[in-house]
Amino acid sequence: MNIILLGPPGAGKGTQAQRLVERRGMKQLSTGDMLRAAVRAGTPVGLKAKAVMDAGELVFDEIVSALIGDELDAMPASQGAIFDGYPRTAAQAQALDAILESRGRKLDRVIELDVGEDALVERITGRFTCATCGKGYHDKFERRGGQEFKRRPDDNEQTVRTRMAEYRAKTAPILPIYEARGIVARVDGMAEMDAVTSEIEQVLSAT
Ligand code: AMP
Repeated sequence: MNIILLGPPGAGKGTQAQRLVERRGMKQLSTGDMLRAAVRAGTPVGLKAKAVMDAGELVFDEIVSALIGDELDAMPASQGAIFDGYPRTAAQAQALDAILESRGRKLDRVIELDVGEDALVERITGRFTCATCGKGYHDKFERRGGQEFKRRPDDNEQTVRTRMAEYRAKTAPILPIYEARGIVARVDGMAEMDAVTSEIEQVLSAT
């Protein structure tokens, strides 16, 4: 099964994708994670992407679509993919169709995580991860000492506002493409994390 998790920044796409990886053995394909790895490694893609990401704007469609194609090529054909943070524009949605088709895959479901924008800024600006294992935490719920933690440089209020504006202007408009195919399921992303997971599980079990 190949699915897209769609929703604004902070909707919980990464968290839910990680859970699906654990439960279903699918692979999470997060273009944000791939780009951050490229920035850390100082690759040509990373060098191009860094300033754009720091500003909260979108990296070129060709760059992210190429990353997705490479990752799919490195996966066993039998393993399902969770697209997390991709596609983000109509051009990427089109590219994904071609990428999947040429690899004998099809898109089974688009899960839209529905969240109120007001809650998102608080969610995002408070989040941090363990520097070693990448597990996510939030200031409001956890206090940690002793271990090393890190925050994303683009998780500050000003950049978050730009990222949301980008979502509204360029990403939300791709939903109708998938709605027309009858593959969109809307899940309440404001519910408690475990409840969101079981709602997603229900959708996938019925797919
Ligand atoms: P994310 O981790 O998904 O929030 O992505 C972090 C940043 O990486 C975004 O704000 C964009 O600058 C860039 N990015 C990630 N995925 C994409 C994509 N599919 N298209 C364009 N830019 C992306």
